[in-house]
Amino acid sequence: MLSDTPGLHHVTGIVGDPQDAIDFYSGVLGVRLVTQTVNFEDILQHHLYFGDANGTPGTVLTHFPDPHGDPGRPGKPQIKSVSFVVPTDSLVYWETRLADHDVAVEGPLERFDERVLRFEDPAGTRVELVAGPPVPTDIELWTAGPVPTDRAICALHGVSTLSGNPYATAGTLETLGFDHDGEDGDRIRYRASGSRATVVDVLDRDARFGREGTGTLHHVAVRVEREADLHEWRELFDDRGYDVSRVKDRHFFHSLYVRDPGGILFELATQTGGVAASDGVNEPGESLFLPDWFERDRDLIESQLPALTVPTGVGGDDTP
Ligand code: ZN
Repeated sequence: MLSDTPGLHHVTGIVGDPQDAIDFYSGVLGVRLVTQTVNFEDILQHHLYFGDANGTPGTVLTHFPDPHGDPGRPGKPQIKSVSFVVPTDSLVYWETRLADHDVAVEGPLERFDERVLRFEDPAGTRVELVAGPPVPTDIELWTAGPVPTDRAICALHGVSTLSGNPYATAGTLETLGFDHDGEDGDRIRYRASGSRATVVDVLDRDARFGREGTGTLHHVAVRVEREADLHEWRELFDDRGYDVSRVKDRHFFHSLYVRDPGGILFELATQTGGVAASDGVNEPGESLFLPDWFERDRDLIESQLPALTVPTGVGGDDTP
């Protein structure tokens, strides 16, 4: 018997310049660059993992930088935005901080019982900060970051999806163990039962078709307990006629991908201790991490990728 997912594992998008992404997410938003590695399907592309101090599943946003890629176009079927939880009384701090860094902010908007700030990262990815939900305590904040810990982003809140078929996507979420949690206008909320990163909103609205590219979100991953579960989930989705991948070794976790009939790409990923806690990652984010099977190609890979600088803000300091 498969258990319900407790919530999201990570969200992954495509950005342009990798240094711009690091400067924005670590330097402005204060989420730690826990690992810089390569796209395991294309080793000449970076893969950046941001999250709490340990890269705990449920706090992680990852990006594939594509510096020469074409801008994407938001639309159906895509993940429209990614949201993070911040402390209830921190929105004034964030409005000021984002304005100081020349980030245009919309909000606070009222949604369900929450208040939301909306803005875009340098690639145009839609990002939201949500105040109102309880702050998760089973994570470890990045204390050396530029944002004071009593204002800091605590974890993913969730994603908003623009499905090609909202009913089908709702069905996929229910299969994974999300429950219908309420509606606010054309926004239908599904919630998992865990302590963090539990929300997927399905937007039931007209939208043009999108195009994958920089500034778009590629997939959303949910947590599962064990690798063995992935094989069971694979069988279940395959039996139901979903487009499902084989189980893959992502070094930090094992995973599989399933494209739901509404066109949203879901990943199921095993809940390991954290991206930074994996073997071989001694200094999270500061140097290029390669799994053993790519280590022999390190010279080639490093010669093809730009060197990246990690911001070294100290707690509470407002350096960019
Ligand atoms: Zn992923």
